[in-house]
Amino acid sequence: MALIVQKYGGSSVADPEKIKNVAQRVIKTKQAGNDVVVVVSAMGKTTDKLIELAKQITPLPSDREMDRLLATGEHQSIALLSMAIHHFNEKAISLSGAQIGLITDTAHTKAKIKEIKGIELIKGYCKEGNIVVVAGFQGVTETQAVATLGRGGSDSTAVALAAVLKADECEIYSDVDGIYSADPRVVPKARKWNYIGYDEMLSMAKLGSKVLYLRSVALAKRYNVAIHSRSTFTQGEGTRVMAENRIKEEGKMEEALVRGVTHDRNVAKMTIVGIPDRPGIAARVFETVAEKNVNLNLVIQSISGSKEVTDISFTFPRTDLPKIVDPMEKLVKELGGQGLIYDSDYAAVSVVGLGIVDTPGVSARMFRCLANLGVNIAMIGTSDLTITCIIKENEVEKTARALHSEFGLDSD
Ligand code: ASP
Ligand code: MG
Repeated sequence: MALIVQKYGGSSVADPEKIKNVAQRVIKTKQAGNDVVVVVSAMGKTTDKLIELAKQITPLPSDREMDRLLATGEHQSIALLSMAIHHFNEKAISLSGAQIGLITDTAHTKAKIKEIKGIELIKGYCKEGNIVVVAGFQGVTETQAVATLGRGGSDSTAVALAAVLKADECEIYSDVDGIYSADPRVVPKARKWNYIGYDEMLSMAKLGSKVLYLRSVALAKRYNVAIHSRSTFTQGEGTRVMAENRIKEEGKMEEALVRGVTHDRNVAKMTIVGIPDRPGIAARVFETVAEKNVNLNLVIQSISGSKEVTDISFTFPRTDLPKIVDPMEKLVKELGGQGLIYDSDYAAVSVVGLGIVDTPGVSARMFRCLANLGVNIAMIGTSDLTITCIIKENEVEKTARALHSEFGLDSD
């Protein structure tokens, strides 16, 4: 008998009809002779609404109490899904994060999973014929405070459960039917992959693909859990995310120099102009950014007009701009810099592919493609398997489409 972990996102359980649809899918898997553990997110926009509600009480709610509040969203959906399964005459039992002993660290609102203690409990309920319905996105700290795993955290719950239960498959259901070579809403000719390796998937998630969350893919890679990303609303196969070696061994590798063209609109750019060029300056600048808990994306330091001073430019999520403007202005004054420039209407467009590292000329092709469109590049970043250009946000869609054709990804 196989054990299958299935995860359904918020849009899959957004209303009673959809919950019943999920119940029927889950029951079908069970009746095919499998043990089934289901992880669900909160219904539709519930989590957003709860955050909004808290903000109406106070602008800066305590993280601990925020977690208590947010966890209630998944409590609703597990109870309702279990009821729906009962309605169709199958056995089901709902379990919260605390009940399955999902222990986290104390970083409230973005906690990390440390262990799952309730493995035997879950297996016991399965043995008694139950479909086990687990609340995603939540756990408890060692001292039993409710903690959540960060937005999209139910994916991580599902992958972690699949790892500890040694599940045969970890299916992650959403409203899209797999991983595409680009966002099909922006690039209509995007193609769906049958298989994708962990590393390409990690880069795509990091650079803007929204189908799977970065943390859950990292977890899947660490514990070698194969993910099957598929749609709740159609029956077809989706995309399997697994180790590159395994894809090769199974003869399933779909050759492609570039696996994906991704984009991210949430980009702001900041430049500190003319600050002293001596040891310790970059450290001061980025310590100030780090204190505000802002994640940097690209960093460039370049020589300015004279050799005693330098310019430092960096990008980060646009939504974090308000947090760092004041502290950076203060710092620039303190260090005797000549000015601070920032702009929030940028976007990042990237090409991702394992083949990029050992194929000459990929970046030249990318830059030539942007040149032909008349798109100006504000910053460039590269890694072994990615090339990223920072451009104006209003040019990102046409750029993504052009790059998609340039690298031969357009489907017919
Ligand atoms: N309900 C949470 C959120 O909306 C967790 C999840 O959906 O995975 O972020
Ligand atoms: Mg959600």
